[in-house]
Amino acid sequence: MYECSKERMDDKIKTFSGFGDTGKGGITRFSLSEEALAARSEFKKRMEAIGATVVTDDMANMYATIPGTEDLPAIISGSHLDSVRQGGNYDGVLGVLTAMEAAETIVLEKIPHKHPITVMVWTNEEGARFEPAMMSSGVICGKFDKAAMLASEAKDKKGYTFGEALKASGFMGEESNRLNPNKSKALVELHIEQGPVLENEKYDIGIVEGVCGMINYEFTLTGQAGHAGTTPMPYRKDALFAASKLIVHLHEEFDKLDSKLVYTTGKISCHPNIHTIIPDEIKFTLDARHQDPAVIKQVLDIIFALPETFEKCGLSYEKAWTRNTVSFTPGLVDYVEKSAQSLGYNSKRMYSGPGHDAQFVIDIIPATMIFVPSVGGHSHCELEFTPVEDCLKGANVLLNTLLLIDQE
Ligand SMILES: [Zn+2]
Repeated sequence: MYECSKERMDDKIKTFSGFGDTGKGGITRFSLSEEALAARSEFKKRMEAIGATVVTDDMANMYATIPGTEDLPAIISGSHLDSVRQGGNYDGVLGVLTAMEAAETIVLEKIPHKHPITVMVWTNEEGARFEPAMMSSGVICGKFDKAAMLASEAKDKKGYTFGEALKASGFMGEESNRLNPNKSKALVELHIEQGPVLENEKYDIGIVEGVCGMINYEFTLTGQAGHAGTTPMPYRKDALFAASKLIVHLHEEFDKLDSKLVYTTGKISCHPNIHTIIPDEIKFTLDARHQDPAVIKQVLDIIFALPETFEKCGLSYEKAWTRNTVSFTPGLVDYVEKSAQSLGYNSKRMYSGPGHDAQFVIDIIPATMIFVPSVGGHSHCELEFTPVEDCLKGANVLLNTLLLIDQE
C-alpha cells in the first residue's frame, strides 16, 4: 500500500486556508472572487511544479494532468475550491488537496501508472453568489443550460452576471477541454461527511454508495387576519397556529417511517408579521431525504393525503423541486472499500445527504466518492474541522483507489 505525506497534507490545508481567511477559523471564498482566483493560481503553480499540464474549459473548470505510461483515458479526482459565506477550510477544498497530494505522491515516489491522472477543480459548486449549486458540473453533464447559467446574477451586485465574472477571471478556456467520456476513465471525489455519523460511530472512512433522493415542497396556510386584542379565540383562523400544528403532524407521521429518513422545515414566512395582527398567511418549506425511493414515496403519500382545510385554514402545497437517488459505480465503491481495508482503516458504507458534483458526473463516466469525518458534524460554518490525521487517511484511500482503477 502506498501512503501520502502528513507534512505535505498539513501544509496544503494551511496554505489554502489563507485564501479568504475570515480570521475566525474559516473562509469566505465565493466562486471566481479575488480569493478564489488566488487559490486557483496556487493550485496551478503547485500542479505545474510536479510536472502537470493545467488547462481550463469554457466554465473555468481546471484540469491538471500528469501523464501515464500509456495513451489511455484519464483517471480523475477533485472537488471545488469555493465556499459559502463564513464557511470552513474543508468542504470541497479537501477533495482538491487530497487529489493534489495523491498526484504528488505518485510523482515523487515514481509510482508506476498506465493512465494519466487528472486533478480537477469545479467552478461554482456552492452557488453561494451565483445560483444554482453545482453549476459547472451541471452544464458539462447536461443538467443545466449554459446560456441560463451565464446570465445568473450575483446576489450582492445587481446586474453582475456569472458570465461576466467568468470572462474577467482569466480562467475561461476551451469547450474542447471539458471532462469528456472518451478521454476519461473514472472520477473519484473525496469530501468531508458534513454530518456526525462517522465521528460518532468511530469510522475513519465513509464508502459512499450514492446520493440520497430528496423532495422539496412549499406549503401555504391561509387564514384570516384580525386584531390581536379584539378577536376571541373561537373566531380565529390563525395561519401560524395551523402551520405549527401541521409541522408537528408531519414530523409525527414521518417518524413512523424508516429511521434513516431526514426531514427539515428550514424556511418560513409569516404575513403580515406584525405582533398585533393574527397571521393570515404562512409559507414553509419541507425538505425530505432518503436513499430508498420507496421511502420517499411514503413521504409523498403522507403529503398527498393532507386535507384542504387544516385547523380552519386553507392548506395547499407545491413541489419546488426533487432529486432522484443517485447510485455510484459499484466496482469503484468496492475499490474504495478494498483500499480502506488494506490500509487497516475502519470504514462504513453510506449514502450522502448533501449533493456533490460527482452525482452529475456519474451520468457521463463511472464515479464514486470517499467521505472523511467532520468533527461535531459541523459544516458550512467556521467550526468545520477534520484533523490532519483523518485527512491523510482519506488521501491514502484516494491514492490507492486511483491505483486500483489504473490496474483495470
Ligand atoms: Zn462541497
